[in-house]
Amino acid sequence: MTNATRVTAPRGGNATETTILVMVGAPGAGKGTQTALLGERLGLPAVSTGDLFRAALREGSPLGVTVRPYLERGELVPDAVTIAVIADRLAQPDAARGVILDGFPRTRAQAEALDRLCAGRGTRVMGALYVEVELEMLVDRLSGRRVCSGPEAHVYHVRSRAPRVEGRCDSDGTALDHRVDDRPETVRRRLEGQMAPMFEVIDHYSERGVLSAVRGDQTVEAVTTDLLAAIERCRRRPGA
Ligand code: AMP
Repeated sequence: MTNATRVTAPRGGNATETTILVMVGAPGAGKGTQTALLGERLGLPAVSTGDLFRAALREGSPLGVTVRPYLERGELVPDAVTIAVIADRLAQPDAARGVILDGFPRTRAQAEALDRLCAGRGTRVMGALYVEVELEMLVDRLSGRRVCSGPEAHVYHVRSRAPRVEGRCDSDGTALDHRVDDRPETVRRRLEGQMAPMFEVIDHYSERGVLSAVRGDQTVEAVTTDLLAAIERCRRRPGA
């Protein structure tokens, strides 16, 4: 299907022609990377509420003004605001064939609202894909971050993006800093707080029989392969 036909496709549609996928996973699980890759492979827009909120902040729109304090404190934006943003995004022409949602739903109330939004469009969530990574591995991934003390704050990782000289920025030679926020104890506490509502979302989709878990502790390519296989299984599920 060409872009032109995709954009002019009728809105709504039924469950067989609209692919609504939800990505679930903790910060550091690689969900954002996988969402972008799947979006390309499946020709569906990848929709991230975090990106929509950051764009609103940059534009200084009324939505940006509303969400700024929550983003600055790292807290969840109220459900009513978040759900309205997603309702608006799902009504855009490029979402007619479906979307891959990243970072939404983050609470059970959001998951229930998404079900209602889908039902109103004659469709349903086809699959919720949980990129599963053990807590200790997430702590290890997230706490390995090092940031240079230069004005551009270049970001490294002790294993996956190590600098050429240990502790020094490749670009400007300044010392690399291990931020207090990235210390293992702080990362573990933050992750535990964020994972509690995520498990509610996982329960929601498990109860509806649309949850598929894939192991996130593999190469990027292997995770993508497993996700594509899981999506195929979702597609073949009766009523999908
Ligand atoms: P993210 O890029 O997904 O980590 O999101 C960045 C920030 O946007 C989060 O820390 C929240 O403040 C906000 N946010 C993103 N998605 C949601 C959501 N589904 N519900 C509430 N707040 C959200």
